[in-house]
Amino acid sequence: MTDSDTTDRPERAAYETRVPPGESPAACPYCGRPLESDRLLVLHEGLDHWERLDDDRREAFRETYAGETDDLRTFRLKMLGLLVVLYFAFLFVYSYVLEDPYSSTNAALVVFGLLSRSR
Ligand SMILES: [Zn+2]
Repeated sequence: MTDSDTTDRPERAAYETRVPPGESPAACPYCGRPLESDRLLVLHEGLDHWERLDDDRREAFRETYAGETDDLRTFRLKMLGLLVVLYFAFLFVYSYVLEDPYSSTNAALVVFGLLSRSR
C-alpha cells in the first residue's frame, strides 16, 4: 500500500445488510459499516482506515491479510484440482462415447489384460 492510497474512501456509502435477530455483527468504529465477523472488520479497517490504526491493529491486519492470502491460495489449488478432474472425466466420457480404440479407457483395459495374462 502506497501513501497515495491512504486517503479514506467515501464513508457515507449505503450498505444493505440483513441482521438476524439475536445476532450482533461487528461494526466499524470509524464509519459504522456493519461486518459479519471480527476478521472481516480487521480487514476492512486495514484497507479503508489504515491511517487511523495504531500499531497493534496494523499488525492484526497484516496477520489476517496473510491468513486470507493462504486461504485464497488453498482455494485456487482446490479449484485447479477440480478442473483437472473434470477435464479427465470429460476426456474419458468422450473417448468412451466415440469408442476410440486408442482411448485411455481401452488402454487401461489392455494394461490390465496384459498384467493378468503375465501371472
Ligand atoms: Zn470503516
